[in-house]
Amino acid sequence: MPSACSRCGAAEAYLLNTPVEPDFEPSAIAADLRPAFFSGHLDAVCANCGLYQAYRRFTAHELEVVNGLGKDVLTTEEAYKDYPVPKEFIDGWYGDSIERQRRRWTKVLGELGLAPRRVLFLRYWFGRAPEMFATEFGAEVYGLDISPVCVRYVREHCPVVRQLQGSINGALKGDFLDGPAFDGVITQHVLVHANNAPQMLRQLRHLVRDGGFLLLNAETKVAPTNPFHKFYPSEYQLASLLREEFDEVYKLDEQGIIAQDDWRKYTGRATEFLGVLRRAA
Ligand SMILES: [Zn+2]
Repeated sequence: MPSACSRCGAAEAYLLNTPVEPDFEPSAIAADLRPAFFSGHLDAVCANCGLYQAYRRFTAHELEVVNGLGKDVLTTEEAYKDYPVPKEFIDGWYGDSIERQRRRWTKVLGELGLAPRRVLFLRYWFGRAPEMFATEFGAEVYGLDISPVCVRYVREHCPVVRQLQGSINGALKGDFLDGPAFDGVITQHVLVHANNAPQMLRQLRHLVRDGGFLLLNAETKVAPTNPFHKFYPSEYQLASLLREEFDEVYKLDEQGIIAQDDWRKYTGRATEFLGVLRRAA
């Protein structure tokens, strides 16, 4: 086993070793780096703490290469091959999710007394959720994405999003980590790509100011065959990890908050979790 558990450091693990099935043309990756992508993740469950994760993680050099290529090269989705992305693709991709998020978020943040004025999106995709935040809360919105197509689209079509520099695929890097903390940080399918998810959660907590929140969206999608997925938490495990960093943890569904301190309700695969910091600074 080349590495230890990212959460507890234990070396022993139950190996599952799911085969990797790339959703892109393997020749996009330089020959010397292909083993890192295609020879397997060594997916395993830690024998000590039970966290399901990849034990074969990208090195800093491999991540640099991946992030230099950009996500668009590493997908078979045709919509990302040409610019601009067809509006029908974006409309279909979002469906009515933004309207449902708008209802859920205004309700939940209102109930918790959270009024974000300055928020950070880690993966903004095509900008509609950041736009919703700006409209509903009057928030200043900052963001980074891993797709050059999304970056260009948002730059041209969603001026409300202030673009930050850095990389967020696999690990968080950039000046934004050392800047002033945010009232709200929203990750959208970023933690599942983390080489070391507990470490990334600690970084995310430091990006949140006291009285602020972290929203995790689409971070329990378990896809061990995807070469970029390194972290496969159950709802329970994700909530437990959040509890190590945040004072209050909530799981959300369409109606808003459905469970706090009620593990019996952790039976499905919720898409959104919320951690709130209430400590005095
Ligand atoms: Zn462990």
